[in-house]
Amino acid sequence: MQLSPRHPRYASLRVRETLARAHESGLVVLEGLIAHGRGETFDYFLGERTTPSARKAERVAAEWLLAAEHPVVSVNGNVAAIAAGEVAELARAIPRLAVEVNLFHRTGPRARLVEAALWRAGVPRVLGVRPTAIIPGLPSDRARVDRRGIFVADVCLVPLEDGDRAEALQALGKRVISVDLNPLSRTSQVADVPIVDEVRRALREIVRAADAIKQSPNPPRLVPFDRYRALGDALATIDRELTRAAVRRRRPPRLRRASPRRPRETAGRSRRTP
Ligand code: ATP
Ligand code: MG
Repeated sequence: MQLSPRHPRYASLRVRETLARAHESGLVVLEGLIAHGRGETFDYFLGERTTPSARKAERVAAEWLLAAEHPVVSVNGNVAAIAAGEVAELARAIPRLAVEVNLFHRTGPRARLVEAALWRAGVPRVLGVRPTAIIPGLPSDRARVDRRGIFVADVCLVPLEDGDRAEALQALGKRVISVDLNPLSRTSQVADVPIVDEVRRALREIVRAADAIKQSPNPPRLVPFDRYRALGDALATIDRELTRAAVRRRRPPRLRRASPRRPRETAGRSRRTP
């Protein structure tokens, strides 16, 4: 399909096109397309921009990833399809970061497609293609991880994660940073740092923050984070955006009120006079 850059939803249509192609190649599963639609809905509600509260979470995420001994980012089909470049930038900005393939619907060829997408984007080393360990307590294929990556990680960045696995990682004592546009998903609800933002915007902001932290004289720390507040902020933003939209709809543009400052005499005659 020929997309015009003048289309008001051009950026969003391009991402959809990318995902549709990635589905044809086998990188993205149908469930991934459904998940994307869910994400887009919440992004509409959030105003399709990084909120100040999300930016704060992204800064803390950068600090935690830099402070961690074994930080890891978990990459699924959707993330590889739309944000492989951002993952590569993140790996550059966080020198100790391990990049690991992790798939809910795992097959060998799909794992290799994720690996290839990351390689093409410039990630030099991709873990998890041939899993070497199991996270206890998880029935799905997402339990299969790399002994050098998620298995030993102390801080896990899990964009577009499933709630079950986020909980299983925490049960192993790992700190979980999620990126998920739905503040009500189980993943957002359990994460230590829930980032409620679109994945590409979030990763770019974490990279910016990490570069700034590395310039600062203070070493990065596992600073405390109020996750309840972050989730409350996201819900309050959605509430505000929807209320604003509802008010706009109730006030049709042609029915503007006369300016209150306009002197009555100059109106020629009283507005009440028929
Ligand atoms: P959970 O399992 O956490 O309760 P879920 O089952 O609704 O959530 P999953 O399919 O497990 O969702 O995970 C995908 C999540 O990723 C969804 O909450 C969706 O809103 C979110 N999402 C999809 N696309 C993006 C994106 N581009 N950026 C950020 N989040 C996204
Ligand atoms: Mg889920």
